[in-house]
Amino acid sequence: MRILVLSDIHANYEALQAVLNDAGPVDEVWCLGDVVGYGPDPNECIETLRNLPNLICLMGNHDVAVLGQMPLSVFNGEARHALMWQTRSLTTESMAFLRSLPKTALVRGEVTLVHGSPRDPIWEYILNTLTARINLDYFDTPFCFVGHSHFQGIFQLDQERNRISMIVPRPGESLPMTPRAIFNPGSVGQPRDRDPRAAYAIYDPEAHTWEPRRAPYDIAAVQKRIRELGLPEKHAARLAEGW
Ligand code: ZN
Repeated sequence: MRILVLSDIHANYEALQAVLNDAGPVDEVWCLGDVVGYGPDPNECIETLRNLPNLICLMGNHDVAVLGQMPLSVFNGEARHALMWQTRSLTTESMAFLRSLPKTALVRGEVTLVHGSPRDPIWEYILNTLTARINLDYFDTPFCFVGHSHFQGIFQLDQERNRISMIVPRPGESLPMTPRAIFNPGSVGQPRDRDPRAAYAIYDPEAHTWEPRRAPYDIAAVQKRIRELGLPEKHAARLAEGW
């Protein structure tokens, strides 16, 4: 069984298409939130996503923001600019899709799914072993999948030594999953781990394996769209280097 795990598409349709092509046939799709924000094509991303069979999709902080459910002032100027533009551009159908997304953790089999962290499903970033360690107390399943940080990585608990370590896996290598651990597939539309390729993962719940993957896509085409729409230059520039 193959489950496509993705997160932080951020309105980057080229990157989403590249991931779907690269992943090949899958049985389910688990999306960990932030479908919108930053990028030029929010409606196209939502349209594609909602037509995928067996989709689970969580709400991320940028999704909450375009719905007007929180003040945009908590975002920096450039992120706010993109969010304001997207709020104006989203169709009624896109808005309805975003509104339907759950804001709390979901449990599927041996996995807890959140956008940010189990302790704070929408907002908290798990970027270091200390935060990962604290969050182990906030979910009961052997594994947790998170997005939000845009880093493809794993926080692994060594049960014997009672230590948690951060692993940056090599893309394309299928890894056996050992309880307990927090997995991040990375970001489809705006990677921040210095690898500009679109990030995602394939999870096999029967074999208990996690395969982080990267898909190249036409970054220049997305940068062109961002510039044509007058969206912040920073959001175009960062795509080329993955920051
Ligand atoms: Zn994000």
